Amino acid sequence: MNKATAYRRAFRGRVYPADRERDPYLLLPFDVPPGIRHIEIAYDYDGDGNVLDLGVFDPRGCEFLTAQGFRGWSGSARKEVVISEGWATPGYIPGPIYPGIWHVVLGLYKVRPRGCAYEVEVCLHRDPAEVPEREVLAVHGPDYPTMAGVERPGWLKGDLHCHTHHSEAQGSVRDLVWAAERKGLDFLAITDHNTVSHWREMEELVGGSKIILIPGEEVTTYRGHANVWGQGRWLDFRCRTPGDIEAVYRAASSEGRIFSINHPKPGGPPWEFGFDVPFDCLEVWHGLWGMGNEASLELWDAQLRHGKRVVAVGGSDTHPRFRNDGTLVEWLGYPTTWVFSQDRSSSSVLNGIRKGHVSISACPSGPFVSLELRCEGEVFRQGMRVPPVEKGRLGVEVCGGEGLELAVVTDQGIFTRERVHDGRWRAELTVGTRTVRFVRAELRVPIPGPRLGPLAAITNPIWCGNFLPGKISHSRRRK
Ligand SMILES: [Zn+2]
Ligand SMILES: [Zn+2]
Repeated sequence: MNKATAYRRAFRGRVYPADRERDPYLLLPFDVPPGIRHIEIAYDYDGDGNVLDLGVFDPRGCEFLTAQGFRGWSGSARKEVVISEGWATPGYIPGPIYPGIWHVVLGLYKVRPRGCAYEVEVCLHRDPAEVPEREVLAVHGPDYPTMAGVERPGWLKGDLHCHTHHSEAQGSVRDLVWAAERKGLDFLAITDHNTVSHWREMEELVGGSKIILIPGEEVTTYRGHANVWGQGRWLDFRCRTPGDIEAVYRAASSEGRIFSINHPKPGGPPWEFGFDVPFDCLEVWHGLWGMGNEASLELWDAQLRHGKRVVAVGGSDTHPRFRNDGTLVEWLGYPTTWVFSQDRSSSSVLNGIRKGHVSISACPSGPFVSLELRCEGEVFRQGMRVPPVEKGRLGVEVCGGEGLELAVVTDQGIFTRERVHDGRWRAELTVGTRTVRFVRAELRVPIPGPRLGPLAAITNPIWCGNFLPGKISHSRRRK
């Protein structure tokens, strides 16, 4: 141990499934005297089928939901972490080392019946932390020119779900932003697990990146995950009941943030809190379509049929890795979420999402599908509610979808199917007067037989007053 170590504290113990049942977050308190400049924490456990996660709270508090002392979370990704005034291991928040009672939190993620032995060592130092050389942020991206924004309404594309070295992934915020730029994305929400330590790196890039950066946190509980987008406080993840989730939702909502249930499909990991809890969005398309997303789509469609206005979003959930040659392997934009936004700002993108002005495509190059209903001189976009109308026309716009199959879907099922003839294609449907709750569109890869093939793009619904789309009256090429 280093001579400058002022204090060392070790914890040893064994936990059983019954402990997890009682409370899956074990708090280990330690006292920090005045004058400490940095804290090192190392832990280990009997890894055979067990998984214990690590987090830290400072003396400002560690109680559920209202804790002010959150200092970081690393899941099971790191066995050693450092928190100091000027630097911290990614996932942790640097800053003042307050004297008083701190807590290590051990998350009992998986505990086998025979139990799990653990050991935690805390070392307190009076000298400042030396930033490990490998952690000095490698600058892979270019220096950013000042952002030249386009301040007019339009469709912007991006990824709403990804991870950096602040989770169990590799690559800094800058690395991901650079990757997003190369793919031509307009916005990127970075949603590291249970932490907001990546926000500082994001703030350093603001104004210097062409990408609209959206602060996010993936609230990663042991019963399901949810993304929260928008600025605000760190949100607690130690939710055990639907009531806990509702409390987190209310905390997020009160700050104008958006709450989205992630990968609600078998193996997602799934969402076990049920769908009676409040939420704004559902991650209907998570990663590649074939990875169980048809189940998420069915679930979303059932919510819509019950009249619940839930916005479908996509997210790659990419956890990048560096290859030996230093290139970053990532899946940003698979799928891509499109948002009709009033301008190039994160608040406008979030507003567009809240309103349901959202489509999703398989990848950044498309294909893209959107809907609008024109009646009595007004244009209604997806996400909007159309008042009862006598006459109107529903326009379906498809880009890059040549050869795919368009399916127009209402709450009564598939209304019509049509082959897309051209790279830029538009279909128009007449509007009738029978009642449907909503109309939405899907682009599918054609397969032999009556069933629909894999999804290539999808819209959110237009909510209907009292109309039924009629036959596709014509489709025409656009110049
Ligand atoms: Zn997740
Ligand atoms: Zn994730």
